[in-house]
Amino acid sequence: MQITIDPKSGFCAGVTGAIRRAENELQQTGQLYCLGDIVHNGQEVQRLERLGLETIDYDDLRTIRHARVLLRAHGEPPSTYWIAEQNGNTIIDGTCPVVKRLQERIAATYNEHKHDERRAQIVIFGKRGHAEVIGLQGQTNNTAIVIEKPEEAETLDFSRPIYLFSQTTKSVEEYHRLVEKLKSEIINHKSQITLEAYDTICRSVANRVEQLKAFAAAQNIVLFVGGTKSSNAAVLFGHCREANPNSHFLTGADDLTGELLTACRQADRVGICGATSTPLWLMEQVRDRLSED
Ligand code: SF4
Repeated sequence: MQITIDPKSGFCAGVTGAIRRAENELQQTGQLYCLGDIVHNGQEVQRLERLGLETIDYDDLRTIRHARVLLRAHGEPPSTYWIAEQNGNTIIDGTCPVVKRLQERIAATYNEHKHDERRAQIVIFGKRGHAEVIGLQGQTNNTAIVIEKPEEAETLDFSRPIYLFSQTTKSVEEYHRLVEKLKSEIINHKSQITLEAYDTICRSVANRVEQLKAFAAAQNIVLFVGGTKSSNAAVLFGHCREANPNSHFLTGADDLTGELLTACRQADRVGICGATSTPLWLMEQVRDRLSED
């Protein structure tokens, strides 16, 4: 049996940066709050909790005072910074620089058009309620319209300008379908409105799709390791299964039991891969499980 860990799988630069900031802080003080799970991976969160990280929610943020609070790579709306500041808390900003730039672009577009007579629509192609999307909506005083699928384009007002941005982890293909849909709706409505569409999808995720498909197709069995709360893991696993129907989702080595373990041990090539939120050590544990007696 040949076992290969996909060299392209694992944390993206944004998540690595936030975790590094947490580790540095924890090394110095041994205690740090993090607003929300630092990464959508339970095992990695537990590892950092053992070092002193404490995950808090928005209710906790309103009550804690004079503490150090890490913001994760997804970013936060401006209100989070105000609340923290009012309570004398220090923000350790782990927002990914790519997300930060996107927030700034959306804020600049909002500020430029907020007093326009024709009330421009800022549209975010993303998942409603996702932390990154909440942070992006916050840049527009929560006036941005979130669209999850190209079909939802029909709900927009085609008498008002449209400025389109995308959550960083959306599919490039779906984004282009949305842009085409918007163009055809504008024609259907015989409208002359401005449509400015900004492809703000992060290539560290988008490029991974093709790499992952090629990796998965070359294996007899694929073990995809990811967290159940990660939307990136769900999307990447879907691509994996498309390339190789013999793909299996695991949250860690403990899920590798019974028939699946036997099938892996009988296979020639077993590939282990994961999401942008999957730590390398977790994929290594799956590899070690395969080699155990
Ligand atoms: S996927 Fe891209 S934008 Fe999102 S945290 Fe990672 S590097 Fe940043």
